[in-house]
Amino acid sequence: MWGQSALLTLPSGIWLDGKHYRAAALRPLTGEDELFMSALAASVSLPEQATILLARCVTALGSIAPVPTDVIAALPVGDREALLLTLRGLSYGGRMDGVLNCSHCNAKLDLDLHPDQLLLPPYDQPAPVYELTVEGVTVAFRLPTGEDETLAARLPIDHAEADLLRRCLVDVTPERAELSEALIDAVEQAMLDCDPQAEIVIDMHCPECGQAFSALFDTAQFLLREVGQRARQLYHDIHTLALTYHWREADILALPFQRRQMYLNLLDEGGTL
Ligand SMILES: [Zn+2]
Repeated sequence: MWGQSALLTLPSGIWLDGKHYRAAALRPLTGEDELFMSALAASVSLPEQATILLARCVTALGSIAPVPTDVIAALPVGDREALLLTLRGLSYGGRMDGVLNCSHCNAKLDLDLHPDQLLLPPYDQPAPVYELTVEGVTVAFRLPTGEDETLAARLPIDHAEADLLRRCLVDVTPERAELSEALIDAVEQAMLDCDPQAEIVIDMHCPECGQAFSALFDTAQFLLREVGQRARQLYHDIHTLALTYHWREADILALPFQRRQMYLNLLDEGGTL
């Protein structure tokens, strides 16, 4: 029933002191989360907002409970996408409506996505560090994390990518070897291959011009925009529920969205007292 938590196995998980943590538990968003997050939206970057949102709603990671914010920030990007998709489904239901512009003719296309369709199964052999050899140079790298994205968001765009890559390099052999362009490209591709959930690509077909195109789906952006919309409606919801049921504001804010919505729907159907 609504208000229950969700469990998922993260695509990669995180290694802390040699131990692998991969089982996550989430609770659904409440009105209080919606208000809190919408107040941050203007001043905090998107990756940081995602970290704060997940730190509120991820209730456990293996035996770690509560989960510190820096642990959420240190999760690989794909794990965070999987958590955000699960949180979206748990909080607001199975359907995600949106609008996308065709990259050929700019026509407005309706998006009808389901979080479950975008979730990949957990990876077979996740590792804290991966290795790759190109032209005699061996590079050990880790996957980019939320923290890397947060730092990248503070840099000018032409520096951000190189900086992120440098931070993810754990070791280069031989030492001081030149990192060729081919090697850098190969590492970037390998990072994606090792964490495919990090980049969600939607394949679209435009009914207007008949062309096919693909678009990147940013779960944090989608979900946080939606949270902002719910927050704007929230005082109206509180007013309606408080007037009818005489509940305290704090109790209404503590309801998960779908529970709040259920009572509002009942009132809409004519169930006024
Ligand atoms: Zn088109």
